[in-house]
Amino acid sequence: FFCLSLQAKMSRPVHSRRLEGVDKNIWVEFVKLAATYSTVNLGQGFPDFPPPDFLKEALVTALSGENHMLHQYTRAFGHPPLVKILAQFFGKLLGQDLDPMTNVMVTVGAYQALFCCFQAFVDEGDEVIIIEPFFDCYEPMVTMAGGTPVFVPLRPKAPENGKMMSSADWKLDSAELASKFNERTKAIVLNSPNNPLGKVFSRGELELIADLCVKHDVLCISDEVYEWLVYDGKEHIRIASLPGMWDHTVIIGSAGKTFSATGWKVGWTVGPNRLLQHIRTVHQNSVYHCATVAQEAVAQGFQREFMLYGKPDSYFVQLPKELQKKRDWLVQSLDAAGMKPIIPEGTYFLLADISNFKSDVPDNPNSDEPYDSRFAKWMVKNKGLAAIPLSAFYCRAHKNNYSHFIRFCFAKEEATLKAASDILQKWKQEKTSP
Ligand code: PMP
Repeated sequence: FFCLSLQAKMSRPVHSRRLEGVDKNIWVEFVKLAATYSTVNLGQGFPDFPPPDFLKEALVTALSGENHMLHQYTRAFGHPPLVKILAQFFGKLLGQDLDPMTNVMVTVGAYQALFCCFQAFVDEGDEVIIIEPFFDCYEPMVTMAGGTPVFVPLRPKAPENGKMMSSADWKLDSAELASKFNERTKAIVLNSPNNPLGKVFSRGELELIADLCVKHDVLCISDEVYEWLVYDGKEHIRIASLPGMWDHTVIIGSAGKTFSATGWKVGWTVGPNRLLQHIRTVHQNSVYHCATVAQEAVAQGFQREFMLYGKPDSYFVQLPKELQKKRDWLVQSLDAAGMKPIIPEGTYFLLADISNFKSDVPDNPNSDEPYDSRFAKWMVKNKGLAAIPLSAFYCRAHKNNYSHFIRFCFAKEEATLKAASDILQKWKQEKTSP
């Protein structure tokens, strides 16, 4: 009897319905594989070089300086020095006066900022448009909020004259995008520069999105965590600065990406109070507060960057310069090894075409798993090189259409990139030698 009643109790599901279908996570799986097998990890997006000295020093001062109150709670919606300098900085970038208390809120990384947005704006039955390929967490976050993700892929077009493909060759089809907007559409997620492709959306593409948002009264959740990582003189255009868009947009940023300190998990939202007031409600009822010392150090970092804005010594000028060299180096090594790269206009990621390597990892038509995912697993186990399959950045229905690319992160020390190149060269030789 005891056993039976226990069984009866155990048959009741413990999880809430909103967790159904969102339990698997690509990062948990691939981070574990990389930790177990990789000798060279170009998988997850984080630098293996240190953050700038001025930032580390700011943290040391915050930790061991005289102001011991920095070890205690600060203002829930953001440490005052940080929201003040963010308001100043983004006010300057957007050309408008921002109120630090109502137009800015600090979050635990951009990840929490995204979570707050979906919880704050999305109801059961609402649709959220997501442009593919997309940073994978958008989909489960929309689902958990009760919304329905609606996907629209960027369409690649092969470049002429056998030129290397660029992320700019992946474009939105304007009619296709427009067809996704309807009376149920609540928001669109824009990620420019885009992870994993490295695409920097052009002014024309942003205007297209902006016009649709204004016309249909749709919000734009603008994930701009790679805003400073733009190459070849390209410009990162903030959609919030386009006509009518300030009132429709929440800008999301990350000190992790901005200052090469992803482990600090300091992020922010910037936008009109009509939107931020609801983000604050989610924040106060979930996380409530972010680590004070980290916020203080990030505030100091932004103070410095505000003074040096646009000058050669600015970290926001130096970092992309360094990363562009690393990008070019990895592009060349991949090309030489026969793994055709797509040149990214921004971010610290690039995609490479694995079609020439198919003989090493044969296709398995009976497997549900996309080819690139099996390839990436094989590569880390057999070659010690970790990368992330592109299909992870597509919805289930589209995964198999985009399964012959893998994503590499090039925010790495020269020695790490060289070690990756050595693996690829050796691999190529093994393939070509009889
Ligand atoms: N958005 C994008 C596009 C990202 O690539 C990442 C991190 N990989 C995040 C958000 C999350 O940023 P954070 O580490 O600040 O939470």
